[in-house]
Amino acid sequence: MTDSAEFDVVVVGGGPAGSTLAALVAMQGHRVLVLEKEHFPRYQIGESLLPSTIHGVCRLTGAADELAKAGFPLKRGGTFRWGATPEPWTFAFSVSSRMAGPTSFAYQVERSKFDEILLRNARRVGAEVHEGCSATDVIEDGDRVVGIRYTDDGGNRREARASFVVDATGNKSRIYHRVGGTRQYSEFFRSLALFGYFEGGRRMPEPNRNNILCVAFDSGWFWYIPLSDTLTSVGAVVRSEMAEKVQGDSEQAMKALIEECPMISDYLAPARRVTTGQYGQLRVRKDYSYHQTTFWRPGMVLVGDAACFVDPVFSSGVHLATYSALLAARSINSVLAEIVDEKTAMQEFEARYRRDYGVFYEFLVSFYEMHHSEDSYFWQAKKVTGNSQPELEAFVELIGGVSSGESALTDADALALRLQANTADFTTAVDALVANNSESMVPFMKSQVIRGVMHEGSQMQMRALLGEDAEPETPLFPGGLVSSADGMFWLPTDA
Ligand code: FAD
Repeated sequence: MTDSAEFDVVVVGGGPAGSTLAALVAMQGHRVLVLEKEHFPRYQIGESLLPSTIHGVCRLTGAADELAKAGFPLKRGGTFRWGATPEPWTFAFSVSSRMAGPTSFAYQVERSKFDEILLRNARRVGAEVHEGCSATDVIEDGDRVVGIRYTDDGGNRREARASFVVDATGNKSRIYHRVGGTRQYSEFFRSLALFGYFEGGRRMPEPNRNNILCVAFDSGWFWYIPLSDTLTSVGAVVRSEMAEKVQGDSEQAMKALIEECPMISDYLAPARRVTTGQYGQLRVRKDYSYHQTTFWRPGMVLVGDAACFVDPVFSSGVHLATYSALLAARSINSVLAEIVDEKTAMQEFEARYRRDYGVFYEFLVSFYEMHHSEDSYFWQAKKVTGNSQPELEAFVELIGGVSSGESALTDADALALRLQANTADFTTAVDALVANNSESMVPFMKSQVIRGVMHEGSQMQMRALLGEDAEPETPLFPGGLVSSADGMFWLPTDA
């Protein structure tokens, strides 16, 4: 026997993508159900955030003030031992003129706490949130998805019907394929991450104390993220071919990787690994870099990791999750308010999401390309020139038609050249940064790839802060939509 209920939107998954979308739709007075498999707080990886998430999207959902009270370490930028120079270099958010001032920081978060704040916020603004509920499949009526089947906390089979079902269940989604298309894995970013937590690790001197530290070494690179004065998240990203070795004895593998990287060894010299509680185990993640070839179908939409993820190196995951949720919420709000039809609204969502994903993808390729290590399999594999054409073709397909007017994106060879030019531009900017210390941040910010990656986030942040006073937006493509002043809807350009 199944029990059925009616909603405007059912959101499956209560991570950052799901709770953001749920909040933004519930705030318009719509009936929103969130089904979350776990009971929060629950563990998740992805601890280093970007400013646009907390000052942009989380301001729109109303979660920003609660986050500010939580006492998360303030992340002012990133410090990298990466590229040609052996000296670490630092990138500070405050160098972007659009982000300078009181919003030139993000947080380093314990995801169990961060995600719980966002989910509670969704409940506070009107979403009905059920934890311990696991979605099993979508319900279809012809072409359209009209609801979800799930098992509730008591093990009972249930159904919920809705105008829209949102898959926000992350990379282990059981229902993403029901949107159609295929999940395409990236060969370029195919790596494996081994990570754990340490108490008592060293800190960089102020003002970089709480920066994410990324250190390239022969076998790959390490992240080092301060989560409190004493707790640090430490992860190694290495070749996926090392899976057997890493999974066989992860303790030994972690030790050996740390020993191979002098800077991380030094930072962890006074530390001990946490062996109890949510941080007590070493974890492995692989096959995390992919995108679905379509992000929606009538009645269903994918957001966050259910749709795509690139790579952990520049903290883009939670940004893409919350930003895609904002885009999808605008589309759903606009359709429910009968401002635009579903196809127009969802095409706008997909075009913008793919563009942002594409910008990060391209930026991260350039980021990997700039580090050279002649004898390293890991770094030799991260060369676009040595990359297979099908990989570039898949990327061209991914963003094809989105960055309109950019002829360089219409074939794989041209794209390879463009990626190499971007890398050269980026490498020069980093060299200038290192040579002249912080005074030289301006050329860094002017580099094509950094400008691209900062643009959308800072635009969104400005709109969230200024509302109606923000600069008017131009559509992404001729005849495309623009966001309303409150950021909650799409409007036709001639409105
Ligand atoms: P999730 O956070 O995965 O949330 C999905 C939710 O859905 C979960 O709560 C889950 O319990 C629930 N769920 C799953 N199945 C079901 C079901 N059947 N029914 C109901 N509920 C279900 N990002 C960053 O921004 N910064 C970083 O530093 C960073 N580091 C990373 C390091 C690694 C190694 C990896 C792999 C990723 C990293 N990321 C990082 C990416 C980040 O983890 C994700 O992009 C982010 O968590 C995506 O959010 P989401 O809401 O889409 O999915």
